[in-house]
Amino acid sequence: MSEHDKFRELIEPYALGSLDAGERSELEAHLRAGCSDCAKALDEARWLVAQLAYLAPEAVPSEILKGRLLQQVRADARSGRHSSRIPLWIWGAVAASLLFAFYTAWDARQTQVAIRKANESAAAALEQQKHLRGELALARREAMILTDPKSVKILLPPSASNMPVLEAMWHEKMGLCITGRNIPMPPPNRALQLWLIPKSAGAKPMPSVMLRPEPDGTFMMMVSNPPEGMHNVKALAITEEPAGGSPQPTSPPLWVGTVS
Ligand SMILES: [Zn+2]
Repeated sequence: MSEHDKFRELIEPYALGSLDAGERSELEAHLRAGCSDCAKALDEARWLVAQLAYLAPEAVPSEILKGRLLQQVRADARSGRHSSRIPLWIWGAVAASLLFAFYTAWDARQTQVAIRKANESAAAALEQQKHLRGELALARREAMILTDPKSVKILLPPSASNMPVLEAMWHEKMGLCITGRNIPMPPPNRALQLWLIPKSAGAKPMPSVMLRPEPDGTFMMMVSNPPEGMHNVKALAITEEPAGGSPQPTSPPLWVGTVS
C-alpha cells in the first residue's frame, strides 16, 4: 500500500474526528504536502458530516463515499477491531437521511392520492345532491299538479282489456303528469313514449317523453313543458318505441285518452 493509499483511508475518520493524535498529525502533514486527491476527498467527507448533522434528504452520500465508508467498516471487521473508526451515529444518520428521502417521496405520493380521492368523492356528493334536488323539484311539481283544482283529469283507457287504465292530470302552467300501476314491463331496449295529438286537422302526433315503468310496475310520467298547450290538444297517446324514442309512432297506441 502506497503512502497516499494509507492516508486516503484516514480521510473519512479524520472528518469525523475519530483519528488518534499520531494518525491525525501524519495525515495533516500529507495534506500540507499538497495531495489534491486527499484534499478533495476531505472536502467531500466534511460536507457529508455537515449535512448529516441536519439529516437533510440531500445528505444521501455519493456512491463513492458510501463505498468508502463500507470499506472502512469491512476493514475494521476483518482486522477484528471493535472500535470502528466510523462512529455508530453516522450510520444512524445515513440510514435516517435515506429513510427521510424515501418517506418524503412516499408521503408526496400518498398526499396526491388522498387529494384525488377527496376531489372524486366531493364531485360524487355534488352530483348526488344535484340529482336529489332534481328529484325533489319533480316530486313537488307532481304533487302540485295532482292536487291543484285547476288541473284537468284525463283517463287513458288501454287498448288491451288486461292492461290497467292510466290517469293524467294536466295543469296549464305546471305541466302534465301521467300515473299508473301494474304496468307490464316493455322488452329490454324499448320504452313507452307519450304523444300529443293536436286538434288541427291533419297535424302529426307530437313526440314527448320516454319512460320505462319502475320494476314494481308503477309508472309516473312527468312533462314539465308539454310541446303543445292543453287547448290545442285533442288526445294523449302512449306507444311502445325503441328506447331512444321515435319522431313518429311506429306501433299502435297502447293507451289513448281524449282531452275534453
Ligand atoms: Zn493523498
